[in-house]
Amino acid sequence: MTRIGGIALGGAAPIVVQSMTNTDTADVDATARQVQALANAGSELVRVTVNTLEAARAVPAIREALDAQHCNVPLVGDFHFNGHKLLSEVPDCARVLAKYRINPGNVGKGAKRDEQFSQMIETACRFGKPVRIGVNWGSLDQELLARMMDQNATLPTPLATTEVMREALISSAIDSARRAEDIGLPGDRIVLSCKVSGVQDLIGVYRELARRSDYPLHLGLTEAGMGSKGIVASTAAMAVLLQEGIGDTIRVSLTPDPGGDRTKEVLVAQEMLQTMGLRSFAPMVIACPGCGRTTSTVFQELAADIQSYLRRQMPLWRASYPGVEAMHVAVMGCVVNGPGESKFANIGISLPGTGERPVAPVYVDGEKTVTLKGEHIAREFQAIVEQYVHRTYGANAALNAAPARPATQLTPAR
Ligand code: SF4
Repeated sequence: MTRIGGIALGGAAPIVVQSMTNTDTADVDATARQVQALANAGSELVRVTVNTLEAARAVPAIREALDAQHCNVPLVGDFHFNGHKLLSEVPDCARVLAKYRINPGNVGKGAKRDEQFSQMIETACRFGKPVRIGVNWGSLDQELLARMMDQNATLPTPLATTEVMREALISSAIDSARRAEDIGLPGDRIVLSCKVSGVQDLIGVYRELARRSDYPLHLGLTEAGMGSKGIVASTAAMAVLLQEGIGDTIRVSLTPDPGGDRTKEVLVAQEMLQTMGLRSFAPMVIACPGCGRTTSTVFQELAADIQSYLRRQMPLWRASYPGVEAMHVAVMGCVVNGPGESKFANIGISLPGTGERPVAPVYVDGEKTVTLKGEHIAREFQAIVEQYVHRTYGANAALNAAPARPATQLTPAR
């Protein structure tokens, strides 16, 4: 197990959600603000680009600004090309970062490569920091790849180019980790990643990486893309691996819309883990998709309202109502599946479909407790949810313990 700041990574520790800022790190205010927004959204580690002297010098000030706001999320420095210089010229940056990300494909060429890599690892050793050896398809060590391609060409049956590239990624990560250990970095301070942009490549590479090494693994589909494509591709790739118990920390690399909300990547990562039954972050709303039986928008509005209400409450509830993050709330559109699904949730409401009587039965822990009607169903249902949270997860919860809801899925072994 590796420790990054106060966060445990690997072994039986929960899978850690991380994210990365897209501000200019030299802009202390903007970066501290975005780190805080990501941390508030639930990011447990936040990576920042450290690409210039100005950026490196800004890192201690960013840490200070976060500490002043009681935001203790560990900061990870992302280094390429000049990391060896920045870490040695700005020791305060090296000191306040909780982890360094080093890309072996971007640490220098020829003889300088080993020297510069060693310099960064020695700094990590000196400051007692963990390192992620983060290989990326787009910046793979070209000398290594060329060597492996040449060797492959001499084989009686050469492998396909993609196979050689996958092998080069894995070798680059594992060989670099071994070199870091030889330099003196303890193995329990090393995390590996091999990011690629294709779903099948990611699955293939990480299966092999997990088979050949014991280091904690950071998962992420690089350059996943925008909107639903980025979400679907990331989930398709990572879910397969997580289900097999591969992956100790994840990042969903979404391209935000211009001016879009950077915290979306945190939400998607949390929802991926929660819908798979691996972790719980916020109460889940189970809502049916609606169909020809729901011709009004009442049910969509109620589902959206409840979902955003639950998310808004979480910063407060997290401290006061431990366990609330595992609560299930069902908002269903009609009598076909409404009562059944509502009974299965902690709290559920079955709204009237088109042509049904305009009443909405509410189920609490599987029992019908009240039937709502009229214009204020949404407000009344929200009040019922709030009372339930207080009663079930509050200080006196043990006196009113709710029956456990049946598990809806099996949790893969970690
Ligand atoms: S519960 Fe009713 S409204 Fe919702 S999808 Fe099923 S049939 Fe349609």
